Order: sequence, then C-alpha cells, then structure tokens
Amino acid sequence: MSRPTYAIIDTQAFVANYRYAKSLAPGSRALAVVKANAYGHGAVTLAHALSGQADAFGVACSEEAMELRESGIDNPILLLEGAFDPDEIELADRANLMLVVHSQHQLDWMLKAKPDRPLTVWLKIDTGMHRLGFTPQAAPRIYRHLKDSPHIGEVVLMSHFARADEMDSDATARQLDTFDDTAHDLTAPFSLANSAATLAWPQTHTQWIRPGIMLYGSSPLAGSRIDTSALVPVMRLQSELIAIRDLAAGESIGYGGRFVCDKPTRVGVVAAGYGDGYPRHAPDGTPVTVNGQRTRLIGRVSMDMLTIDLSTQPDAAIGDTVQLWGDLIKANEVAQLSETISYELFTGVTRRVHFHYR
Ligand SMILES: *Cc1c(COP(=O)(O)O)cnc(C)c1O
Repeated sequence: MSRPTYAIIDTQAFVANYRYAKSLAPGSRALAVVKANAYGHGAVTLAHALSGQADAFGVACSEEAMELRESGIDNPILLLEGAFDPDEIELADRANLMLVVHSQHQLDWMLKAKPDRPLTVWLKIDTGMHRLGFTPQAAPRIYRHLKDSPHIGEVVLMSHFARADEMDSDATARQLDTFDDTAHDLTAPFSLANSAATLAWPQTHTQWIRPGIMLYGSSPLAGSRIDTSALVPVMRLQSELIAIRDLAAGESIGYGGRFVCDKPTRVGVVAAGYGDGYPRHAPDGTPVTVNGQRTRLIGRVSMDMLTIDLSTQPDAAIGDTVQLWGDLIKANEVAQLSETISYELFTGVTRRVHFHYR
C-alpha cells in the first residue's frame, strides 16, 4: 500500500456544473475555462468528459492547449492571454487555436502572419480591470484593422470583470456600460462573464460566457445572497488517520507548540500537509471530517502531516478516512479560514497526491 492521500475527481459533477452554467445563460455559448490543469483537477480527463458538449475550452498558454490537442480534443480552444511570441501565431494556425489579442505588439505579429486559414481573434477591451486589453478609445480602430486583414476571420469582443463577486459594488455595472458604449455599433459576438457574473449578473451574459471556478463546484460568491447550492464539488481531497495518541492537559502538539490541550485530548495524525497542497496557514479549528463527522484541525500543519481533534470520536481508528475538502467540507470554508480562495487551494494540490477519476 502507498501513502493514502487522494484527490478524488468526479467527472460527472464537472459536466453537471457546465450544464448548470449553460442553463443560467440559455442564449449563450460557454467557454469552459480549464487553464492551470483545470484548476488543478486534471485538464485532459475533464476536457474529455466534456468534449461532447463544450462549445469551447479556455487555457492560459499554448502548452496547455497542445496538451489537450495531443490528447485528442478537437473542440475550439482559446488562448486567454494570446500569443507570447510571433511563432505562437503559426502554432495557433496549425493547431486551430483561437487567440486573444490584448496589446499592440500582438496585433503587429498577427497582421504580419500568413496563416493558412483565417484566424479567430478575441479582441480584449480593458473596461476597468486595468491588466490586459486595449483602451475603449482604441478598440474600434483595432477592430477595423482586424476586420480589414484577410488573415483574420471571426472577431469576438471581450472584457473581464474585476469585481463581479461583489454584489454591493457598482463596478461591474460600470464596466458593462463602458463595454456597451465601446462595442454597441461593432458587429461581433461579445464575451464578458466569468463564473461570478454568470451566477450574479445576467445582463452580462451576451453571446459567450466564460465560467471557470463554478465548473469545479466552488462558488465565487460564498456568503452572498445568490443561491449557488446547485454547484457540485468536483474534487474531494482526503487522506487517512496514520496514528492516534492521547495527550494530557497542558501538552502541546507539533511545530511551535501552537495548540495546547486544555483537557486530556485524543489526537489523530493525518497523512496530508502543505507538501500536498493543504494550506499551512490553516488555523486551529479549521474543519475536517473523520468518517463523515466533523471535527477540527489542532496544531500547525506540517509538510507531510496534520493533526486533528478526536475527542468527540472515541471510536476513530487507524486507516479511517479524513476529508480535507470536498462534499462535506467546502473548499471555500478552508480557504476563508486560511485567508485565501478555493482557486489557490485547487491549483496548489501537488503531484504527490494520487488522483482518482470517477
Ligand atoms: C480565468 C478566467 C476566467 C474564469 O474565471 P472564474 O472566476 O474562474 O470563473 C474567465 N475569463 C478569463 C479571461 C480568465 O482568465
């Protein structure tokens, strides 16, 4: 037997979450965002589970796109940051990848390229995120450049929201207004909505939504009034009890002695730590389950192990299953307590963890 630390991936939950995203935006196509190895879940397997239904996939770079192409995925694929050098325009032509164009240097490469087929381009407009994209003032001119080039086929107009997860902010409405002012008299499909906007801002759905985190069953709107209970967690991170000990009141546990027992305490040692992607910043009290029952982390997380309170579970035994996040413990709960987001937890799961696909 090997170390019992698993990420169990429910491919059907991924498909169900995609269908749910589509049901929220019935008039839109949906680009399933599978960058960063499908947010740490395994892009090849999940893309294959969805390939019969996905309108397109979105990735961050050509390496991620080629991994999918070489595994037999032939759905449309968008490079979300476009080309990083001129050679990638040729690669996009050969491998039939769609490209974002967000800056003048990418536009120059594209207008010089001589692709065999017209390229599909997603023109990115910066409506307030201030990271990538052309200014609203420049965008109509860039659009016409692209339209005039015989090497460019379809042009999609896109933008990205900075604060779509904040229900009380008017930032999303302002970005949408800016986009409408810029794009309303340009003939093109539009794409604005990430997961948060797909869930909370229906007026942003337009022709293409771009859901990411919601496909993995995690809500970007945790704690808001928006109902996201239909999302099904795709990843279950679990391990087992590998030791159990009884400590007296006053004894401390692990590095730094952070947790001191205030009464005689039964402590379980679990084979998972920050070397597996569990956050080292998780405080005492972070929830875990043993055999499906909730208890809490006590003591600092170490690289290969963490320690939990078994006082309420006297029957727990070596080899019992401990869930760290999944259906019983939302990744968002662990993330919030550790001052991060579920995106970072998922993408941080390391290759030492055994991935099982269902
Ligand atoms: C990552 C990404 C998304 C998906 O965002 P989520 O918050 O995970 O839904 C959408 N659009 C772009 C451009 C992205 O980079």
